[in-house]
Amino acid sequence: MTLSSTTSRPLIAGNWKMNGLSAALDEARAVAAALESQASTARVAIFPPSTLLSRLSEAVRGSPVATGAQDCHGKSSGAHTGDISAEMILDAGGSLVICGHSERRTDHGETSAQVAGKAEAAAAAGLEPIVCVGETLETREAGDAVAFVVAQVRESLPASLAGKPFNLAYEPLWAIGTGRTASVDNIVEMHAAIRAELAAIFGEQGKVVPILYGGSVKPENAGEILAAAEVGGALVGGASLKATDFLAIIRAA
Ligand code: PEP
Repeated sequence: MTLSSTTSRPLIAGNWKMNGLSAALDEARAVAAALESQASTARVAIFPPSTLLSRLSEAVRGSPVATGAQDCHGKSSGAHTGDISAEMILDAGGSLVICGHSERRTDHGETSAQVAGKAEAAAAAGLEPIVCVGETLETREAGDAVAFVVAQVRESLPASLAGKPFNLAYEPLWAIGTGRTASVDNIVEMHAAIRAELAAIFGEQGKVVPILYGGSVKPENAGEILAAAEVGGALVGGASLKATDFLAIIRAA
C-alpha cells in the first residue's frame, strides 16, 4: 500500500474490543457484502479480538474490508505470554494494528514509549498502525488537554514512521463508550493542534497523515464529525459491532 493511497480517503475503523464469538463473523460478512454491492468513499477496516482475526480476514478476503488487530508487542517473537507480534497479525491476514488505545494504556499501564515501540515494530513488519492519544476528563477540566495530547503525540510516534503509512486517532477518554461525544469545536481545536505537531515532526508527510476521531461515534453524529476540519476518519467502538450501524457510519463519510 502506498502512502498516498492511505491519505486520500477517510478511514472508518471498527474496534470490536473484547466482543465477538464465531457468530459475529456474520456482521463482518454483511459489511463486506454491502460494500461490494455499493462502493464506499471511505476505507474500511475491522479490528476483531485476536481469536477471530484469521477467520474474519478469510471471511472478508477480496472485499473492500481490511482487517487488523487491537494491539501488538514491540518484539517479533519470544517469551511474552499472551501477546501477539506484528508478524503474527500479518500471518493472520491483518494489515493494520491499533497501538496505544486508552484501554490498553489504562488496563495494562502502557506508556507512550511502549506505544512508540509497538508502532515501530508494526510499521517495520509492514502493518499500518493507528496510534491512539487522548486526555482524561480531569485533564480537560484542568485546561491541559491540548498540551497533554500534543505531548502524547510526540512521545508515541517513533521517527521510523517517516515515509510509512500510519494514522493518528484522537480519542478523549471521557467520550469512549460513554455515549458522550466531544463537540465539533473540541475536535477541530484538538485536531488542529495534532496536525501542527505532526507537521513539525514529519514535515510534508505530517501534513497529510490521517487524524481519526474516536469516542461514541454513531450513525446520528458521524456526518457532522467526519465533515469537521482535519478529521480523516473515525475509530468506532460500540457502533461497529452491528453491521447496520457500522454501515451507516461508513456511508456518512
Ligand atoms: C474505541 O473503542 O476506540 C471507541 C471510540 O469506542 P466507542 O465508539 O464505543 O466510544
